[in-house]
Amino acid sequence: MGFTTINPATGEVTGEFPEMTAAQVDAALQASAAAFSDWRRVPLGERLAALRRAGALLRDRGGALARLMALEMGKPVTAGRSEAEKCAWVCDYYADHAAGFLADIPVEVDGGCARVVVRPLGPILAVMPWNFPLWQFFRVFAPTIAAGNSVLLKHASNVPGCAFAIADLVRSAGFPSELLQVLMIPGARVADVVRDPRVAAVTLTGSDPAGRSVAQAAGEVLKKVVLELGGSDPYVVLEDADVLDAARICATSRMVNGGQTCIAAKRMIVVDAVHDLFLDGLVSQMARWSPGDPFAKETRLGPMARRDLRDELHGQVRASIVAGARCVLGGELPEGPGAYYPPTVLADVGPGMPVYHEETFGPVAAVIRARDAADAVRIANDTPFGLGAAVFTGDQERGRWIATEELDAGCCFVNDFVRSDPRLPFGGVKGSGYGRELGPWGIREFVNVKTVWEVASRSSPSCPATSGSD
Ligand code: NAP
Repeated sequence: MGFTTINPATGEVTGEFPEMTAAQVDAALQASAAAFSDWRRVPLGERLAALRRAGALLRDRGGALARLMALEMGKPVTAGRSEAEKCAWVCDYYADHAAGFLADIPVEVDGGCARVVVRPLGPILAVMPWNFPLWQFFRVFAPTIAAGNSVLLKHASNVPGCAFAIADLVRSAGFPSELLQVLMIPGARVADVVRDPRVAAVTLTGSDPAGRSVAQAAGEVLKKVVLELGGSDPYVVLEDADVLDAARICATSRMVNGGQTCIAAKRMIVVDAVHDLFLDGLVSQMARWSPGDPFAKETRLGPMARRDLRDELHGQVRASIVAGARCVLGGELPEGPGAYYPPTVLADVGPGMPVYHEETFGPVAAVIRARDAADAVRIANDTPFGLGAAVFTGDQERGRWIATEELDAGCCFVNDFVRSDPRLPFGGVKGSGYGRELGPWGIREFVNVKTVWEVASRSSPSCPATSGSD
């Protein structure tokens, strides 16, 4: 068995990659453990200098990386360049701030000196999705490696070229050659790696079933897990909102990355008073996203990443229409060998329909009518997910209250679309997973927060000066 890459714009096979044998996986785990025991002793300043060089290389190689993503998963090249730039930002962010995040904290205690120090855990397994092949990885890699861990990358099976391009970039940045290991294995073999005692902890970004499988394996061996899973973000539009602006923002959020984003606007919940105005605005905005060649600079909507995923999405759309949804835009499978799907808007969406309850991972907007604000918030929270949410209102305080107190999600925005930012925690509640990435929270997921307490002695009567982990 191996991995075959297929250009989702044309259906053509573009590459073949061999699957690793059990012995090769064992060697990678051994190398990762050995690399960790050296890397943890490398002064923090040197670790961060390598991270800064990785950021510079991401900017230099942005064009080539964008073309590779277009080839393997259909992301338009202009969006791919922005993704590489954002990865450079997260590398720079941790290069600038990791020393502060990892610094020792002195605590006053009776009769001695106590410090809280932060130390690495070991090899961290990162199981990654294909939708942002670079960003999902670098937002894990930058803090994890800065903290002194080594990393094992198991990337999604349809982006093996991206995995090797990442490994090449990391080596070129001057990180030790064994510090990042790429595991060429399918999802079905991940649980065995999670159980391996050389793996210290695991993070998975992906779907609910993959998350459950990893959490189960990690639970058997009592291993730390971070899960960044799916979402079905509600965008609540209230009667006092700038409705057409809300429609434009909702369309953008839904369509970025061909709708294949965990924090896309998936359910638009609109109060009755402005529902029809919003729906008209949304349809005209969504219709502007015409599909095109992902290699063309002006393309904003490429094909979906895989044909099976496109067909699965179409099944959710058809089943929702059968259950009573009204298709007001798109909804038809295009001809041709690629994995294209048109911008699609479903109105009159309600309970019992797949697009109401399930995540839709593609360019499909579900519009739900609510009686009033309270009803809209109730519908927003009527989901197994809790990743992002947004509320649109002309009353800033009302929006702040709803975002802060009423929406059950990890990232709540007022009058804008949900997005990740290196400075802010990212993650979900409920079925969207647990743990946080980014900011100081992200770097503290895979560390030993250690208490060191020493009784003052005659030879050392005063407490040690506190420092970073340098
Ligand atoms: P996926 O099918 O779950 O795959 C994600 C990763 O998990 C891949 O590397 C996959 O490997 C692996 N995997 C699959 N089944 C597994 C199993 N049983 N045990 C262990 N690993 C397994 O998800 P995807 O289609 O790549 O990505 C889309 C999903 O990711 C959506 O639900 C999206 O919302 C979510 N996502 C969440 C976030 C977030 O931050 N919360 C960000 C981006 C995406 P194979 O490719 O070899 O199967």
